[in-house]
Amino acid sequence: MKVIIGGLAHETNTFSNVPTTLEMFQSYEWDYHETIVNRNRGVRNFPGGMVDRAEELGIELLPTFLTFTYPAGTILREAYDRIKKELLDTIAATEGADAICLGLHGAGVVEGIDDLEGDILASVRQLVGYDIPLIVTLDLHANMTQKMVDEADALLGVHLYPHVDCYERGIEAIDLAHKMVTEGIKPTMHLTRLPLLIPTSATHHSPAREINEACWAWEKEEGVIDCAFFHGFPYTDIPELGVSVLSVTNNDQELAKKVSEDVACLIWEKRDEFELNMPTPAEGIAMALETEGMPIVINETSDNPGGGTPGDGTHLLRAMLEAKLTNACFGFIYDPEVVQIAHQAGVGATVQLSLGGKTDYLHGEPLEVTAYVKALTDGKFIATTPMGQGGHENFGKSVRLQIDGVDVLVCSVKSQVLDEQIFLLHGMDVTKYKIVALKSSTHFRASFEPISARVITVDSPGLTTLNFRFFKYERAIRPIYPLDPATEWNLHQLTRK
Ligand SMILES: [Zn+2]
Repeated sequence: MKVIIGGLAHETNTFSNVPTTLEMFQSYEWDYHETIVNRNRGVRNFPGGMVDRAEELGIELLPTFLTFTYPAGTILREAYDRIKKELLDTIAATEGADAICLGLHGAGVVEGIDDLEGDILASVRQLVGYDIPLIVTLDLHANMTQKMVDEADALLGVHLYPHVDCYERGIEAIDLAHKMVTEGIKPTMHLTRLPLLIPTSATHHSPAREINEACWAWEKEEGVIDCAFFHGFPYTDIPELGVSVLSVTNNDQELAKKVSEDVACLIWEKRDEFELNMPTPAEGIAMALETEGMPIVINETSDNPGGGTPGDGTHLLRAMLEAKLTNACFGFIYDPEVVQIAHQAGVGATVQLSLGGKTDYLHGEPLEVTAYVKALTDGKFIATTPMGQGGHENFGKSVRLQIDGVDVLVCSVKSQVLDEQIFLLHGMDVTKYKIVALKSSTHFRASFEPISARVITVDSPGLTTLNFRFFKYERAIRPIYPLDPATEWNLHQLTRK
C-alpha cells in the first residue's frame, strides 16, 4: 500500500498588520520528498505520527511537499498560489497512491480566500478525483467549514490543548487510510457549527475537559470513529469562524449528526463557564508576589506569537520593571535589532536600548533601558515539550540581558515559548526564579505547569487578547456569543452558513 503525505499549515490572525509572505514559509519549514520523512521521523507532531505509523505497518510513503510558518496576518495571494502549485505538482508526480494524508491547520486565510483548507482540498480533488481516500489532520483551533467536510473523506482534529496529541492524530490518519483501503471502512462526517467564540481554554481544565469527555464517551460507541470539539480561532474576521463539533462515523450519517449535535448542545450550555476576564499585568504581578512558593509563571496571553501577534509587546515587561522585581525573568521578547546591538557589543558590555514595541501601537511603547549583556547564543535547541518533543527549534541569534533585577531574553525569530530550553540555553534555571514571565496562551502549560507553584494569565491590549470586544469584527456572521450577549441558538437554527 502507498500513501501520499504532505501539507501546509497556517493560523491566520486577520487583525495583524504583518502580512504572511512566501519568504516566511520558506524560512520556517519548506520541505520536499524524503526530507519530510527524515525531518519528522520520531518527532511528536502530525507528520511524525504519519511517518512512524506508516513505517510500522509497512506502508510505502510518497512524501510530496510540506510547509508551515508561524501565525501572522492574511497570507499574500502570490505566496498561497506558489504553495498550492508545489503541493499539487508534487502530488501529480506520484504514481500508484492508494490514499492521501494531508496535515493542514484549519484557520488559513488568503487574500480573496476565506477558507484556505476548503480551497486546497477542492483543488486536490480536482487533480485526483473522489475515489481515492483523502484524510486530513487539523489543529484544534480550526475554523471548520462545510466545504472542508464535503471535500475530505475524514478530518481528524487534535483533541488536546496544549496540543500534545498531534502525533496520535498523525497515527490515526494512517490507520484510517489503511482501514479504508484494506477493510472498506467508509468514514461519514457531520459538522455542527455554533455561534460562539471562546477564549483560550486548556482541555485539562473545566469546562473544556468535560466537553472532551463527552466526545470520548461517544467515541466508545459502536460505529463512531472520531468526535472532535474544535475551539475555532477567534482572531480571523471571516464569516465562518468559531466553535464547532465534527463527528466521523463508519457510514452512518444519522449517527454522525446525532453525536455532533449532542456535544454542541453541551458546549452551548457551558458557554458562560469559559473564562474571559483575566488580571492586568500589574494585577498579575501583585498576585504572584502574594503567592507562596516558586516559580510563579505569568503568561502574557494577549501577545502570543503562536496566535499571530508581534511577540515584541512590552505591557508585561514594563509592569515587571516598574514593580522593581528582583528575582524574575522574562523569556522572551522578539527584537532582532536589539539582538544585533548586543551581539556587536559583546558579553560584559552595558548598552542603552530601545527594546520591543516596534511592530504596531497595540502592544505597548518601546522600553528605554540600560542593559547588561550576560550571554549570547545562536538560539538553537531541541524541544522537550510533550508537544513536538525532539523537534529542532531555532529562535535565531539571541541574548540574555539583565535590566535592573530582571533577566530578559531577546530573540530574533518570533515564537511562543513551549518549554524551558531557551532559558537553559542562556544559563537560566527557571525553578530558581520567583517570577517567570513568558508569551504564550496555553501551550506552555504542558511543560511549565508541572514545575511551577502557580500559573497566572494576564491580559492587556494585543492581537490575542481574550477581550474579543477589543476587535472590530466586520465580516463574522452575527449574532455571535459573547460579542452579542443575547445570541440564541438551538438545533432548529443549524442551517447557519
Ligand atoms: Zn492550536
